[in-house]
Amino acid sequence: MAGVAIVGSGPNGLAAAVTLARAGVRVRVFEAEPTIGGGARTLPLTEPGFLHDWGSAVHPMALASPFFRDFGLADRVGFAIPDASYAQAMPGRSAIAWRSLERTADDLGRDGRAWRRLFAPLVRRRDRLVESVLRSMLPPRHPLITARFGARVLLHATRAGARTFKEASAPALIAGAAAHASGPMPSFGSAATGLMLATLAHGDGWPIPLGGSQSIVDALVAELESLGGVVETDARVTSIAELGDVDAVVLDVALARLPGLVGDRLPDSASRLLRRYVGGGGRPGNGLSKVDFALSAPVPWSDQRLAEAGTVHLGGTAQEVWAAEREVTAGRPARHPYVLLSQPSLFDPSRAPAGRHTVWAYIHVPHGSTLDATEHVTARIEEFAPGFRDTVLASRATTAAELEAHDANLIGGDIGSGFLTLRSMLARPVLARRPWRTPVPGVYLCSASTVPGPGVHGMAGHLAAKTVLRDVFGHPRFTGSGDRVGGANYD
Ligand SMILES: Cc1cc2nc3c(=O)[nH]c(=O)nc-3n(C[C@H](O)[C@H](O)[C@H](O)COP(=O)(O)OP(=O)(O)OC[C@H]3O[C@@H](n4cnc5c(N)ncnc54)[C@H](O)[C@@H]3O)c2cc1C
Repeated sequence: MAGVAIVGSGPNGLAAAVTLARAGVRVRVFEAEPTIGGGARTLPLTEPGFLHDWGSAVHPMALASPFFRDFGLADRVGFAIPDASYAQAMPGRSAIAWRSLERTADDLGRDGRAWRRLFAPLVRRRDRLVESVLRSMLPPRHPLITARFGARVLLHATRAGARTFKEASAPALIAGAAAHASGPMPSFGSAATGLMLATLAHGDGWPIPLGGSQSIVDALVAELESLGGVVETDARVTSIAELGDVDAVVLDVALARLPGLVGDRLPDSASRLLRRYVGGGGRPGNGLSKVDFALSAPVPWSDQRLAEAGTVHLGGTAQEVWAAEREVTAGRPARHPYVLLSQPSLFDPSRAPAGRHTVWAYIHVPHGSTLDATEHVTARIEEFAPGFRDTVLASRATTAAELEAHDANLIGGDIGSGFLTLRSMLARPVLARRPWRTPVPGVYLCSASTVPGPGVHGMAGHLAAKTVLRDVFGHPRFTGSGDRVGGANYD
């Protein structure tokens, strides 16, 4: 086959495929699993009539992503955008990050002014900030807002960040979002994650795709097929030699899988380098252990305001979140875990039969753990919603080890491809202007192991595809929309 072979149909593989197909290139996607979408699939995991997001559930990065904006995602997929982007469940009164920055600041009382000072400049310039962060940061597209963001990240990478507030709610709201990047806390990686997610919470919100995350990948496949591209499922690639005569190969696979796929085409020096980078500088990241619930009723939150939030973090104060993450990072399950919970059926009735509901929740666990989190998650929800247990019709646990069995990229249940550090954010997997190139000519990497990292934004795939267009198809420059290859527009 002439054209480009793409290995893996996660959001990045499909974004690469669409970018290439729009430029007039023939594309074929090979997916190991029976279903497309990788970490963005929606499956009937419990009872008939209930649909659950197997991986991603909430998509702040999708609506903000330059690739998805250009793709027209918001016109192709319906999104529910809760007024309360996320909440931090606390004993007594919980803390809420409303979409409205003003409402959030008012709620935070004595800390309202500090919250406004922290986020208002970022929210105002969020499009530029997202562009800088989601494209290669070398060099940042918008240095001024990136520098302002960086200064805030440095402060919140230490305990000093929490000390800028007088009460517990504001630091807890930041810690709950920061803990999405599982690992040592507070740290540079967690602070960058938390501040970016909180900024998006006050911007376009934390959207929930109607029909589940599958709607996003289905929209990508529909576009790809309309352009003549093909996706093959149940097609695991074990060596790029199987792909025959192609112009280029784009791998939506974890970095650690690269040596196995390219074999002896990888120079020794590169193999040594890769070993250093695999798993974020040699250390594999934490895993996650997930539970999906089918419920007879909504979660009976004690604080009813929690029912307004699409996402609820059950973690208590910032110090409690940090302590839980520290235990996991030290290699043992947290005694009082931080739970990340989404309640999509409150905003998207298509997920469950009338009157019934779904909950998606996970805890962080040590890499490769086989811990079933059902009881941990249930007990934690009960603390904030007594009687939850009685609403459970069915549940399905997916351990960290099982995640890898259904998506080979999730090694040990790690969705971050190693811990998020300053180095792994910039050098992902290597410090280069186009880090999607591999040392093997014609072979590119486009998964979450590459810039800009995890999340459903498609940018790694899009940027890898643009590199292929430049390197392989000889397009001289990629300066923005208006560039053409084969008569099709792309950016
Ligand atoms: C439980 C969970 C919750 C998450 N929650 C969120 C969230 O709420 N919001 C968010 O933005 N992100 C979330 N994420 C992260 C997000 O899903 C990933 O960052 C994103 O899917 C990465 O996309 P990708 O294309 O790089 O890889 P993946 O989505 O992992 O896709 C890789 C694909 O490649 C296939 N593949 C691998 N090796 C081969 C091979 N040799 N041959 C053929 N096919 C192969 C895999 O089967 C898979 O389909 C979550 C992930 C998980 C697992």
